[in-house]
Amino acid sequence: MQPTGSLHLGNYLGAMVQWIEMQKTHECIYCVVDMHAITVWQDPKELRHAIRQVTAAYIASGLDPKRSILFNQSQVSAHAELAWIFNCVARLGWLNRMTQFKEKAGKDREAASVGLYAYPNLMAADILAYRATHVPVGEDQKQHLELARDIAQKFNNDFRAEIEAKGYNDGIFFPQPEPVITGPATRVMSLRDGTKKMSKSEPSDMSRINLMDDTDAISEKIKKAKTDMEPAPPANLEELSTRPEIDNLVGIYAALAGVSKQAALDLLISTSTEGPSIFTGFKRALTEVATQKLGPIRAEIVRLMDDPAEIDRVLADGSTRARAIASPILDEVKDIVGFIRS
Ligand code: AMP
Repeated sequence: MQPTGSLHLGNYLGAMVQWIEMQKTHECIYCVVDMHAITVWQDPKELRHAIRQVTAAYIASGLDPKRSILFNQSQVSAHAELAWIFNCVARLGWLNRMTQFKEKAGKDREAASVGLYAYPNLMAADILAYRATHVPVGEDQKQHLELARDIAQKFNNDFRAEIEAKGYNDGIFFPQPEPVITGPATRVMSLRDGTKKMSKSEPSDMSRINLMDDTDAISEKIKKAKTDMEPAPPANLEELSTRPEIDNLVGIYAALAGVSKQAALDLLISTSTEGPSIFTGFKRALTEVATQKLGPIRAEIVRLMDDPAEIDRVLADGSTRARAIASPILDEVKDIVGFIRS
């Protein structure tokens, strides 16, 4: 997760909850990617704050930093070192095909940072520095994971002789990281426009619920959330899918309450009334579940943020453990490439 802007309900339901669930089944490494963040301008003070806040949000949402590794990227230099080597493995043509760079750089490509362009190579290093085998990725990161696979394969091919000489008889030094699709991730849409993703870059704060919003703010935002002009609630899931704003609210309710979408729709139908404020009852129920679920998380983030030194200790401990995995792998990479190390 990048430490930029404030985390919102989309980040929480669409990513964080899913990733934290994986600590039950996998040996997990969670990285707050501060080096990725600076590919676009970050105010240093805000960056520092955001790194601690994302860390606090992970812990408040249930990540156990003793069981899993939680750290910030810049503290483990293997990421940067391996990224440089990958800059020399990946081809310009490969990076030219990355759609996220085109979107993020916009019209004035000449003014984009070189880091923004080379970002996928750093992401490949984030994964391969641990010889990680599984990476949970959303739709937007699939292309970058493909690139990481290509880099792994080209590295293995280019240096096959050295890799075999090191005792890897199958010639495979870097495994091909697999994308993990973690169940039906909730795609949370804007509260102002059901066809757009909830996003931190949307100018109107009313479009999103931030993890740091208090009860009043959550209640106000849900009350003002856009619905549609239809006189009756959708009769079934099929009709629901044609009404994006209502669909979004029902989806959010289901995810927060831990019930099926059908159960959330049943509640919507049973609470709806005649007249212009047909969804008031449902919105009240949604506000209740949202504040019940998010209130304690917010309180825990606030509590943790009150002691930044403790957060920094968690990150230092995670970094030490991450380094212990990545350093020997990087040493082998240096040998394979032909560097001399003492
Ligand atoms: P971003 O804030 O765009 O860097 O995204 C961080 C993570 O949150 C990524 O895994 C995204 O796929 C996920 N994410 C961001 N916005 C949403 C959303 N509205 N709904 C679901 N997942 C989201």
